[in-house]
Amino acid sequence: MKVGRIAGQFAKPRSSPTEKQGDVELPSYRGDIVNDIAFTAEARTPDPQRQLMAYRQSAATLNLLRAFATGGFANLGSVHQWMLGFLKDSPQSRRYKELADRISDALNFMRACGLDLESHPELRATDFYTSHEALLLGYEQAMTRVDSTTGDWYATSGHMIWIGDRTRQLDHGHVEYFRGIKNPIGLKCGPSLKPDELLKLIDVLNPDNEPGRLTLINRFGADKVGDHLPGLIRAVQREGRVVVWSCDPMHGNTITSTSGYKTRPFDRVLAEVKSFFAIHAAEGTHAGGVHLEMTGQDVTECIGARAPSPMRTSMTAITRFAIPVSTPNNRSTWPS
Ligand code: PEP
Repeated sequence: MKVGRIAGQFAKPRSSPTEKQGDVELPSYRGDIVNDIAFTAEARTPDPQRQLMAYRQSAATLNLLRAFATGGFANLGSVHQWMLGFLKDSPQSRRYKELADRISDALNFMRACGLDLESHPELRATDFYTSHEALLLGYEQAMTRVDSTTGDWYATSGHMIWIGDRTRQLDHGHVEYFRGIKNPIGLKCGPSLKPDELLKLIDVLNPDNEPGRLTLINRFGADKVGDHLPGLIRAVQREGRVVVWSCDPMHGNTITSTSGYKTRPFDRVLAEVKSFFAIHAAEGTHAGGVHLEMTGQDVTECIGARAPSPMRTSMTAITRFAIPVSTPNNRSTWPS
C-alpha cells in the first residue's frame, strides 16, 4: 500500500519553544500552518489564516494526487515516461530504464497472448493514500466528522494520521483524540518509549486488537535501534497484539552540522532501515513498512546520498504498508 506524507504535513513538533541566533531569541518555527521560517519577530508570530491556506493547499494536492493515481502516472504502459528528471544521466536512471524495459516487454508479451490490458484497471490506476502528523488538535477537531451511516468518528484531514514522538503521553490530548477516531493510525516510537508504556498505549489506541488499525512507526536512530526495537517487538508478541511495524529512518538520525543546519547523513538512514529488517528477521516478525521523506530537489535535510549531485537524495522503496513521501521544508510547495 502506498501512503504519502503529503496533503496535510504542515505542522512541525519542536523540542524547544524558542530559537536563539546570537543575542536574539524568537519563538520557534512551527511549520507553515502556524508561522514562517524567517528569523524575524513578525514572521514567527502565529497567523490563524495559515490554517485556511494549509487546508486549501491540502485539498488542491489531493485533487492532483487523485488525477495522478487514476491517470497516466499510474499506467504501467507509460513506464518510460516516468523517467524522473532529477535522475537523468545517473546510474539510477540506467537501472530505472532496465526495469522499465522489462515491464514493457512483459506488457507486450501479455498483449501478444491476447490479453486486453485496457480492461485491467490495476494496470492503469493505483490506490494512493495520504497521511500526516495530527499535531494541531484544533485544526484536526474542525476536520473531524461523524459517519452518519455507522455513527463512527473520522479524521477527514487525511486517510491515516499519526501521533508524534513528542506528543504520545498516555494522559495527554493527542492520545485522547486518536482513541476516538476510526481511521487507521500511526504511533511514532522513539528511544524513550518503554515496552510497558507501549503496551498501555496499544490498549488505549487499539482496544479491539483490530489488524491494520495501528502502525508503530519506529524512529530510534541507526545507533539505537538495536537497543530498543527488540524489546518492544518481544513485548508486543508476548501480549499477542497485532500491529504493523514500520521504520522511519529520517527522524532519529538528525545531526546539526557545523554550519548550524539540521541534516541527516544518508548512510545512517540506510543503516537504520537495514537494522530494522535484520531485527525483524531475527525476531521472526514482519517488517511491514518504510516511512521516508524524499525529494528530487536540492535540499539540506539529507547529505551523502548516492545520487547525481552531492546534495540530492533519491530513494525508492517497495513496501507492504507505507511509502510516505514529502518535500520537507519545501518552500516552493507553499502558495505565495
Ligand atoms: C515527523 O515525522 O515529521 C517528526 C517530526 O517525527 P517525530 O515525531 O518522530 O520526531
